[in-house]
Amino acid sequence: MNLFEHIKSQLKPIDVINHYSVPVERGQMILCPFHQERTPSLKLYDDHFYCFGCHATGDVITLTAGLLGLQPYEAAKRLSEDFAIRADRPPGKVKKPKKRPVQQLWQSNLSEYFYWLKHFKQTLAPSSPEDTPDPLFVKSCREISYIGYLLDCMDLNPEATMILMDSSGLNQKIAQELSLLDRREISA
Ligand SMILES: [Zn+2]
Repeated sequence: MNLFEHIKSQLKPIDVINHYSVPVERGQMILCPFHQERTPSLKLYDDHFYCFGCHATGDVITLTAGLLGLQPYEAAKRLSEDFAIRADRPPGKVKKPKKRPVQQLWQSNLSEYFYWLKHFKQTLAPSSPEDTPDPLFVKSCREISYIGYLLDCMDLNPEATMILMDSSGLNQKIAQELSLLDRREISA
């Protein structure tokens, strides 16, 4: 394994984010270092990241490069120093058990949906009290706290949250809304 592969096998994006004290919001979202923004839209996954705003994506090394303003090679070197990772050393860290794929998908859908609600609440807010509010704004205001609550529940008790989301049909509803969003390519 070369240094790049070795780093990627040992570090998750969240490890790096915590190490460099980057604030993480609900649903594992951070402010994207690849574009200017006020609402965090970069989502951290176990092995990569994705920005819903500018579509930047990559691994833990790319992310570090963006955060610290380095070239990928410099970022890899920096990570190997900060986390004491050597190319020739076998992995020393005990790996956490992998999340089940279904849970990961649901959690990811939930965070993405939460991001959009927050985005619409901010960007579609009526500019004066006389304006008729955008239906998407109204919907976002109505749903956002419950979706945020579910995100927290997902962290604490994924099994129970998934049962709840399944029995209420919410999981399907969210997946459907997200596919509609994809097709509309909203950039408001
Ligand atoms: Zn971005």
